[in-house]
Amino acid sequence: MKTVFVAMLLLAMMATLPTMAGAQGGIERLYVLDCGVNQGKDQSRWSPGVNEGKPIEFSDACYLIRHAKGVLLWDTGIPDAVAAMPDGMVVANGAITQRRAKTLAAQLAEIGVKPADITYVAVSHTHGDHVGNVALFPSSTVLIQAAEYDWAMAQPTKPAFAAAQKFEKLAGDRDVFGDGSVTILSTPGHTPGHQSLLVRLPKTGLILLSGDAVHFRDNWEHRRVPSMNTSREQTLASMERIATVLEKKKAQLWINHDKPQSAQLRYAPAYYE
Ligand SMILES: [Zn+2]
Repeated sequence: MKTVFVAMLLLAMMATLPTMAGAQGGIERLYVLDCGVNQGKDQSRWSPGVNEGKPIEFSDACYLIRHAKGVLLWDTGIPDAVAAMPDGMVVANGAITQRRAKTLAAQLAEIGVKPADITYVAVSHTHGDHVGNVALFPSSTVLIQAAEYDWAMAQPTKPAFAAAQKFEKLAGDRDVFGDGSVTILSTPGHTPGHQSLLVRLPKTGLILLSGDAVHFRDNWEHRRVPSMNTSREQTLASMERIATVLEKKKAQLWINHDKPQSAQLRYAPAYYE
């Protein structure tokens, strides 16, 4: 009888462990940072058959997550140097003009975060408006899919990483802090090693940060695949994967480049808990 009681007590204690761990650690805050704007000459580059020849402006966000076990920066946006360019920076053979109202460095300083405080810089993929400032964090470990790293390093224009940059090359999903609160999801297709981020906030709940798995809400609803994506099949499969995660986890989808949605978010120094 006594043994049964002790066993039951142990089971009860074990059942409460995850809750205790959640109360003592986990994510503390998520900040949304303004990482620039892209002005596209022709929306149909991202939305085939839609608004051909018409310009579109879209948001570019970075996200800083404070966790009891470290700090993670998700994407780094358009290079900070662009903030000093009055006419912005023209890229993609003239198809896009990038602008930055405020540097990433200044926004981090405003919330009291030094580059050396950042444990991980995780990048959704290696396009210039996502990896523009990785070199600002030479002591952080970059979390990137091996497939993305290999692909990017074979391009004529390589991402500007710091000379001493540390990389952790992933092959699929990764539970970053080991408690299920920050999970990298492999979502290839836009690029070969594209990834998205699932974040579980104590008060706000679950948020899935898209990266460029999809660019705009309308493209999400119509499952449109931009012409520059490296694989149409993988893109569609990744969108289905995201849809399944959203439904199962009751998560919100934050689409990085969707300007109307981004305009609704609270930016740093405000934050989400
Ligand atoms: Zn991209």
